[in-house]
Amino acid sequence: MKALVLHGVGDGRLERIARPVAGPGQVRVRVAFCGVCGSDIPRAFVKGTYRFPTVCGHEFAGTVESVGPGVSGFSPGDRVTVFPLVWCGRCAACERAQFAQCADYDYYGSRRDGAFAELVVVPARNLLRVPEGVSLEAASLTEPAAVALHGLKRAGGQLVGQTVAVFGAGPVGLLVAQWARIMGAARVVLFDPIPRKREVAGQLGFPLAFDPTGEDPVHRVFDLTDAQGADVCVEAAGVPATMTQALAAARAGGRVVVLGNPSADVTLPAGLISQTMRRELTIAGSWNSTFSPAGNNDDWHTVLAAAAAGQLQLDPLVTHRVPLDQAWEALLMMRDGSEFFLKVLVQP
Ligand SMILES: [Zn+2]
Ligand SMILES: [Zn+2]
Repeated sequence: MKALVLHGVGDGRLERIARPVAGPGQVRVRVAFCGVCGSDIPRAFVKGTYRFPTVCGHEFAGTVESVGPGVSGFSPGDRVTVFPLVWCGRCAACERAQFAQCADYDYYGSRRDGAFAELVVVPARNLLRVPEGVSLEAASLTEPAAVALHGLKRAGGQLVGQTVAVFGAGPVGLLVAQWARIMGAARVVLFDPIPRKREVAGQLGFPLAFDPTGEDPVHRVFDLTDAQGADVCVEAAGVPATMTQALAAARAGGRVVVLGNPSADVTLPAGLISQTMRRELTIAGSWNSTFSPAGNNDDWHTVLAAAAAGQLQLDPLVTHRVPLDQAWEALLMMRDGSEFFLKVLVQP
């Protein structure tokens, strides 16, 4: 089968590799779409993966192609998406079903071969059925949508009637905004320096999208909230400026969610730390998302239900669909920012 194989930092090659075989309890999935995650860019060009060669790609959906021994409940042709973390099932976190905190996990596309390939073999317990009315293209965005949902849940408390400020309007920021609306927020304010991202925010029904380089986002939030500040601030860009803005724009007793993958150290001015103390802000880190094979109100099943209900709009986030033989060029484009992009999908 064809796969984009990463042989080293900056060395991706389209190759033919052996088709993986579904063992006991496993299913072979024919990949329809695999999203390129923001984290795939440093993985391919800066930090590398855990071992080389690796096939990257962890945000994917497709159809069941064959099932291994002992698998029940799935059969060829079923439309599925995949929770990409393979948990150990033995550690304390796994016992609490907090798989994202597993002490000994495996991961598609970084620790084991992922879905920039025609076929992937996955444990049947990691599969989710894609509901009717949700395209496989949309289903391949389940992971970023689950990450966004998890971030907002980490803010704690309810959001009805509240103001949520989102710093960074990439795919995850735009998904956070949508979840905030679904969860009843009265006002969602977004900041991003890229005009096309603010346009997409507007198309998704978020007119309060501003350029943080053309004005002070903290002033804007206070202007919009009778000088109170936002109830919830979500840092969704991973750059120092958004981290300090998210802290500075929160109201007394407000919550700040740290969600963007950090790209640099952040220096917090003493005045801002003091303000964080005086305002008694709650700062919540957010990591990955919750998944339950039984579908017990976890982030992944919630995403698919909201997409099926038409509450969550995933398709407008897709800006590029590229075949496998152009996937490396697409990664280079994202690294260089040579085109406007939100979610880039590889279509093996
Ligand atoms: Zn991702
Ligand atoms: Zn574990």
